[in-house]
Amino acid sequence: MSHLLNNYNRSKLSFKKGSGSYLYSAEGEKYLDFVQGIAVNSLGHSNKYLVSAINDQAKKLWHVSNAFTIPEGEKLAKRLKKLTFADFVLFQNSGTEATEAAIKVARRYFYSIGKKNKNRIICIQNSFHGRTIAAINASGSRKMMEGFGPKLKGFDHFKFGDHKKLEKLINKNTAAIMLEPILGEGGIKVVPDWCLKGLKKLCTKYKILLICDEVQSGIGRTGKFFSFEYSKIKPDIVPIAKGIGGGFPLGAVLMTKKVAKCMSPGTHGSTFGGNPLAMSVGNAVLDQITKKNFLNNVRRLSKYFHSELNNIKSKYPTIIKEIRGRGFLIGIQLFENQNKFINLLKRKKLLTIKASDNVIRILPPLNVKKSDLNLALKIIEEVCLTYDSNE
Ligand SMILES: *Cc1c(COP(=O)(O)O)cnc(C)c1O
Repeated sequence: MSHLLNNYNRSKLSFKKGSGSYLYSAEGEKYLDFVQGIAVNSLGHSNKYLVSAINDQAKKLWHVSNAFTIPEGEKLAKRLKKLTFADFVLFQNSGTEATEAAIKVARRYFYSIGKKNKNRIICIQNSFHGRTIAAINASGSRKMMEGFGPKLKGFDHFKFGDHKKLEKLINKNTAAIMLEPILGEGGIKVVPDWCLKGLKKLCTKYKILLICDEVQSGIGRTGKFFSFEYSKIKPDIVPIAKGIGGGFPLGAVLMTKKVAKCMSPGTHGSTFGGNPLAMSVGNAVLDQITKKNFLNNVRRLSKYFHSELNNIKSKYPTIIKEIRGRGFLIGIQLFENQNKFINLLKRKKLLTIKASDNVIRILPPLNVKKSDLNLALKIIEEVCLTYDSNE
């Protein structure tokens, strides 16, 4: 009997090692892993460069308090500033801590300019921002909030695509709009570029902040460093996590100088946030992602993969409803529940993971080989060929 808390429907499958796009089970079976820890292992399993970075740092220094200067963190923050819209970075350890801190920064900003009641955050109904009390209330998901009441004040929700409702929700107490530019858990729903542009315009018009949750879609996942870059907009606050650690727990909040000013010593903190070990891995991930042609390759290969998936879709139009996503944040939406399809893929040694809306999520490592993509396409097509929805 397992003494792990029963908060997941765990598969019996376990692994003893990983290498690049592949995982090896305890029985020695080889799986093509297109889950990659849910977009976390951005450079694949046991990436040599990351292994040596973490080993080097582990021999020197693991952890010191944030009461001291941590040069590896200074360096990572400087690099993120150079690469992105941000002027300042706050390091955390996970996605939900990053979204939680993003909410705190947005509220504190208006507090600091004397607008104490301007604290409401507008979010998309059934989005995903993590599992802390604030994050589940931000998601507006009844399922995630069930039993964890009382419902928090300060969050307003509109349905994905309901522009009229969104504009109606904005009032004098609104501090920010927070959204995932691509809803990950919500079913790989891409917010169209013109919508993000419109959202930014609304934020400017009403003088409210825009928070883009790039925890899943960021750090090259879509072929740009951030997915909002496709819309050519500039947010005020951006929580990140998943891909930046390449498999090591690491989260952060990026923000502009304007809002950063409100966070003075003592306003927020984290014992583990920004520790030397995490910072070294984060720097090593950036070394790889910022290499010339790295993101070009993500765009080129993912374009090929999307178009091949669309070919499979057109051959099996009664099974596959839509191919969604951007770059290597991909969703295959089926007409019916996706569990059976995912199990058939698993039987053929391809690992994928579900999202809402009958979607199968496909998350290859960003440095995936074309031959691995071709193997996945072959397996997906084989499953379509034998798939009988009436079974
Ligand atoms: C995964 C995710 C989170 C939460 O990250 P954790 O590290 O699990 O806390 C928040 N926002 C988005 C968009 C995510 O995909």
